[in-house]
Amino acid sequence: MTHLFENYARWDVEIVSGSGTNVVDSSGKDYLDFTSGIGVCNLGHCHPHVVEATTNQLQKIWHTSNLFKSSLQEEVAEKLTLHSIGGSVFFCNSGAEANEAAIKLARKYTGKSKVITFLQSFHGRTFATMAATGQDKVKQGFGSMLETFVHLPYNDVSALKNEIDHETAAVMLEIVQGEGGVHVATEDFIVSVEQLCKENGALLIVDEVQTGIGRTGKPFAYQHYKLSPDIITSAKGLGNGFPTGAMIGKDFLIAAFNPGSHGSTFGGNPIAMTAASATLDLIFDDEFLNEVAEKGEYFKSKLEEIFAPLENFKGIRHKGLMFGVEFSNEVGSMISKLRENGLLALVAGPNVIRFLPPLTVTYGELDAALGIIGGTLLDKQKVTF
Ligand SMILES: *Cc1c(COP(=O)(O)O)cnc(C)c1O
Repeated sequence: MTHLFENYARWDVEIVSGSGTNVVDSSGKDYLDFTSGIGVCNLGHCHPHVVEATTNQLQKIWHTSNLFKSSLQEEVAEKLTLHSIGGSVFFCNSGAEANEAAIKLARKYTGKSKVITFLQSFHGRTFATMAATGQDKVKQGFGSMLETFVHLPYNDVSALKNEIDHETAAVMLEIVQGEGGVHVATEDFIVSVEQLCKENGALLIVDEVQTGIGRTGKPFAYQHYKLSPDIITSAKGLGNGFPTGAMIGKDFLIAAFNPGSHGSTFGGNPIAMTAASATLDLIFDDEFLNEVAEKGEYFKSKLEEIFAPLENFKGIRHKGLMFGVEFSNEVGSMISKLRENGLLALVAGPNVIRFLPPLTVTYGELDAALGIIGGTLLDKQKVTF
C-alpha cells in the first residue's frame, strides 16, 4: 500500500545512510553507489565539508525572501561565473527550473520564440521543458505541446543549417546527452552550432544540469571545446544533494531580466547556497578535475576489457566519470543483478548501462566495482545477459 503517485518505477530497496561512495539499505546491506543518487552527489554522500557548512548555516537562518540582499548568493554566483562564462546568475531549485529560466530569458532578450533542441535530449518535466525534451515517451498523454520547440537530429550539422533562421531565439543542447543514452557531441557539430547561432542572431544555451559541476573532468562540459555559450544551466551536482539550480547568462543579457520579470520563492535560499559554495570549493580545482579525467580513462579501459568479449557489447561512451555502456539487448536485468551483488548503476534508455560514480571515487572503489561487474557477468546461473 502506497500513498504516493506511482510515477516512478521504484526499486524495492530503501537507502537509509551513505558516506562517500558507500550507501546502506534498510536491511543493512552495503552498496557501492555508482549513480551518485542520480548524478547529484558528485562529492559522495554526506561529504564532511558540505555537512559542516550546511550544519552551521542551519543554526543561523533558513530563509529570507529574494527581496533582501544575499551575500551567500553573491559568493556562489562569483564562483560559478569565474569558472564559466562570466555574466550573472539566477538561482532556482532544479534543472527544469534552470532551463525554464534560460528559455524565458532567450525569448525575452531576442523577442523571438522559436527554440531548437535535439532528439534524445532531456531538459526536464515542466510544461515547457517537457516540450523542449526530444523524447516522445516524456510527452505521451499530455496533449498538444508548446509550439516553441523544434527537434533536430543530434550531431547533424546540415539539419541545423536547414532549420535555423532569423526567427530562432535559441539553440539548446546538452554536450553529453545523459538521459538519452550518453551521446557525446562531436567537435565539428559543437563548433558549427555556435557559428550558425552567431550568423542567425540566435542564443546558444548549454544544458549542463547533468554534465556540469565537474562530472566530465571540467567545471562544465562545454569547456572541452572552444566554445562560449551565451547561457548555461546547472542543477544536479550543484548542492551535492541539497536541491538547487542556477542559470548563468552573459553580461549582454542582464538587462532582459529586470525586476518582476522572473523569480522563485526558494531560489538561492541560504542552506542551498551554503551547500553549493562548499561543493564548488572542492570541485572547481584543477588537480581535483584532472583526477576525475584520469579516473575516467582508467575505468573506461578496464570496463572495455570486461565487456569486449561479449557478443552483445556495442561500445562505451564517456566523458570524465559520465559513462554509457551500450549493448544490443536490454540491460534492465543486468542492473538488477549488479544491485543484488552490491553495485548501484543506472540505465540511459533501454540498452545502455549508465555509471555516474561520485567524482571522489577511489581507485580501490573503481576496482571493487569492476570486480562486481566481472563477477556478475561470470555468474552464468544468475545472468542470461
Ligand atoms: C536531470 C536533468 C534535467 C532536469 O533536472 P530536474 O532537477 O529533475 O528538474 C534537465 N536537464 C538535464 C540534462 C538533466 O540531466
